[in-house]
Amino acid sequence: MKKKISLIVPCFNEEESLPFFFEEAVRVLNELPAYDSEMLFVNDGSSDKTLQVLKELSGKDERVKYLSFSRNFGKEAAMYAGFCNASGDYVAVMDADLQDPPSLLPRMLDILESGEYDSVATRRVSRKGEPPIRSFFARMFYKIINRISDADVVDGARDFRLMKRDMVDAIVKMSEYNRFSKGIFGWIGFRTYWLPYENVERVAGETKWSFWKLFKYSLEGIVNFSQMPLTLASWMGIIFTAISFIMLLFVVVRKIVFGDPVAGWASLVCIVVFLGGIQLFCLGIMGQYQAKTYLETKKRPHFIISETNEEDAVKVK
Ligand code: UDP
Ligand code: MG
Repeated sequence: MKKKISLIVPCFNEEESLPFFFEEAVRVLNELPAYDSEMLFVNDGSSDKTLQVLKELSGKDERVKYLSFSRNFGKEAAMYAGFCNASGDYVAVMDADLQDPPSLLPRMLDILESGEYDSVATRRVSRKGEPPIRSFFARMFYKIINRISDADVVDGARDFRLMKRDMVDAIVKMSEYNRFSKGIFGWIGFRTYWLPYENVERVAGETKWSFWKLFKYSLEGIVNFSQMPLTLASWMGIIFTAISFIMLLFVVVRKIVFGDPVAGWASLVCIVVFLGGIQLFCLGIMGQYQAKTYLETKKRPHFIISETNEEDAVKVK
């Protein structure tokens, strides 16, 4: 029996790039006659004609399957829906804007077929065409998260990777509500080959990620895969308690020896404000974790599919 490749493609307002992606993906898949294939497009609540385009494509090619969300659930949810519904022996996640070139697939397949690896992941070797401040923050993020968590996240790693079935099953099992796929891929382990490639600009349309959205996403990543911020908060508490004892001693001794307790109002206010700030900061950190726990305990579904051409699709999970 032929092995099957599933391509998972999250799409949010991608009406312009989809035809380009489809053409390129079909070209590459046709070059791989030894494999069956399916293209699993996940329409993440687009407000443009993405769904219409997908329906047209599915009419043209029976390998096209679409899962359409009832609203925008985010790329993480879209990828999860893809993993839950992909039936291939090999599964790849790729962006609809051709920034993850399908032309790399044959090489990635070869590497997996050789049997030495369970997944082939891609990383950009350059950040050309990206604002320098964004690159700077991205580098910092990778440094920090690798230092403080178990999820080993490679700098420049993209979500684009080809995986064997076992790995996909493990990802589906990781059903946490707050998802950070780069962390999940790293956390589950398996033998991964890193394939470097030059950054490609998006073929059409615009990026959905503002600097602010990326910044928030990176904080998510840290909170989801590390307890370090909590430890930091505890340590700050211990250190400042120690300092306050020393200061207390200092004030008492000064009063006894010099008899002058009143001076120093300004420094007092500074200290009170400073400690107030630290306390709020630490409370905030705890709040972040508590908020995550709150959401996890609700066990809300990750996604809701309102329309699809797959009869036995997992529609809510
Ligand atoms: N995407 C999605 N849901 C969202 C935002 C993005 O499914 O809420 C998809 C988008 O259609 C694209 C991929 O995620 O296929 C990557 O998005 P984008 O190209 O905007 O990000 P960038 O490449 O600029 O990081
Ligand atoms: Mg992109």
